[in-house]
Amino acid sequence: MYTEKYKLLLVEDDDIDIISFQRAIKKTGLNYELDICKNSTETFEFVTKKKYNCIFLDYLLPGIDGLELLKKIRELKVFTPIAIMTSQGDEKLAVQMIKSGAFDYFPKAEINPDYIQKVILNGVHLWEVENKRLKAEKEIEENNNRLTAIVESTDNNIYAIDKLFQIISFNSSFKNRILLQQNLEIYIGQSIHEFIKDDEIINNFKACLKGQSLTHFEELNVNNQYNCFETTYNPIKSEGETTGIAIFSKDITENKNFQKELLKAKNDALFSAKVKTEFLSNMSHEIRTPMNAIMGITDLLLEDSAFTGISLENLKSIRYSADNLLVIINDILDFSKIEAGKITFENIDFDLRLRMSELHKTFEYRSKEKGLDFLINIDKNIPNILKGDPYRLNQILFNLVGNAMKFTSKGSITIDVKLQETSDNECKLIFNIIDTGIGIPENKQSKIFESFNQAYTDTTRKFGGTGLGLAITKNLTLLQNGNININSKVGVGSVFSVELKFEKSELEKLEIDKLANEVYDLSKFKILVVEDNVMNQFVAKQFFKKWNTEIVIANNGVEAVELLSEIVDFDLVLMDLQMPEMSGFEAAELIRSNNSPVLNSDIPIIALSADAFLETRKKVIEAGMNDFVTKPFKPEELYQKVLKYVIKH
Ligand code: ADP
Repeated sequence: MYTEKYKLLLVEDDDIDIISFQRAIKKTGLNYELDICKNSTETFEFVTKKKYNCIFLDYLLPGIDGLELLKKIRELKVFTPIAIMTSQGDEKLAVQMIKSGAFDYFPKAEINPDYIQKVILNGVHLWEVENKRLKAEKEIEENNNRLTAIVESTDNNIYAIDKLFQIISFNSSFKNRILLQQNLEIYIGQSIHEFIKDDEIINNFKACLKGQSLTHFEELNVNNQYNCFETTYNPIKSEGETTGIAIFSKDITENKNFQKELLKAKNDALFSAKVKTEFLSNMSHEIRTPMNAIMGITDLLLEDSAFTGISLENLKSIRYSADNLLVIINDILDFSKIEAGKITFENIDFDLRLRMSELHKTFEYRSKEKGLDFLINIDKNIPNILKGDPYRLNQILFNLVGNAMKFTSKGSITIDVKLQETSDNECKLIFNIIDTGIGIPENKQSKIFESFNQAYTDTTRKFGGTGLGLAITKNLTLLQNGNININSKVGVGSVFSVELKFEKSELEKLEIDKLANEVYDLSKFKILVVEDNVMNQFVAKQFFKKWNTEIVIANNGVEAVELLSEIVDFDLVLMDLQMPEMSGFEAAELIRSNNSPVLNSDIPIIALSADAFLETRKKVIEAGMNDFVTKPFKPEELYQKVLKYVIKH
């Protein structure tokens, strides 16, 4: 319902007619305002200045007829409903006026309140309908313009075809691509067969016309180079029926190249990581082999009572430096393994108290030398045998106790092992390593766990070390789902706390413990040592001599197999892995094979190698060997392993 005042314009030159119009309209009771113009010039001025709801136009005006005036008003883009009034009725004229945009036509004799009101209400209604239509048209037009702008703004190729494979729409990108590709100007109505010859694409069109959307990757020659496009075909539907296809094609050459580069970079990185691991494995092997001789001979000399005074001190220095060098080599190796995600953990039964007493033995000498008390307290509720990785536990504690020894000059170092939590099959232990050393400033406490980081820049000069120890310790702890924390005060000391979970073991005691206290005596056993390095042959000979047995040496796998084929009473083979002519792996495989030439193909074989990588250990077992000892070997460990297998046998 129209609530505002009706704005009306009467174009009329005859005063009498004006008065009768005014009278009639007044009687309608409508709320209105009426302007009056007497000629065309005034009319143009009024209609452009003000928006009317309805215009009443006299057909006969001075100098211009109503039809002409009507057309001119419309030319001014004024679409207000116009009703024409004439002095006498003329059907022909009426038709002409309506055609030119008038909405009503009536003789002046009809000017009475009822009629005028009817015309006004009709006009206003028409005006509203017309306005809505104009608005909708405008919106459609604006939307179309925006869509065109969007379609044109992209460098994706967009086009559409009808069922007859004729172009119905396309954007500039598509047009330019075809121009560049085939030197062809495309146009609406053109058959796509003129420029698309590829059967696969035509088949895609056919499939899409059946109503199926699809995406396809295409290699197209653009500007003499092959570009890769990702194209989607979408059916255009009208009342449920497919009437055409809209095609969106995106040049993804750059993405593809980027992907290729990424893949190459990834492969390069993997390759260089592999090279790094291989290099480290080789380096470790190369360094450990002479280290074995240095450490072995030093151990032997240290036991020789002929060395006293300064010579003994010098020997101790060699042994100490060799130990340090080995720690550094092992740290670097471990660090690289952690970085390469190659670190793995054992899950074996071990005696915690025995391990802790071994750790105590390792540091006993050093603590006495420095005048420090060194204590280990173990919670009595912790079971004797646990299941986990005793080597990594030892490595963690060795690092922390080593640091505590390094940074403490008076007072004590204590390892406190407590049972924190226990469940049916697990124990959570906390190891507190407490020292009364120099302490670590608070702002450095988180940094010291980063690789190659030390609390003070002069640490290496004063105390030695690489700054890798704690980074490795932390990683080894986290990788076992454990936790490490520090609590330290400068000048008072530090507490490093390590939380680790272990499985509960089904065993009460370990078999190996029985062997631990036996006298070193292998006199009843005959051992074949396969080793190509003369210095290491020498070291092995010396140790086994100490353990009361003479060994037989083979310089490589071939010699070993020959000896084992001739002599029957060997009890054990100690096998180096990398040797000329025949490696330890090949020799072991041959010994264990069905057509083995040796007299006892079940003989225990222990690999003795400088290569400490877990893969190597796996390969050793796969080749049929029984166990593994790393070089430089710990005399005790080697002895225990040899004894274990010769006794079993
Ligand atoms: P490294 O001992 O080879 O320098 P670590 O990663 O083991 O490397 O230790 C990093 C640094 O943390 C040490 O250089 C030292 O500054 C500090 N730090 C570690 N443990 C202690 C400790 N118990 N007391 C004082 N400072 C320590």
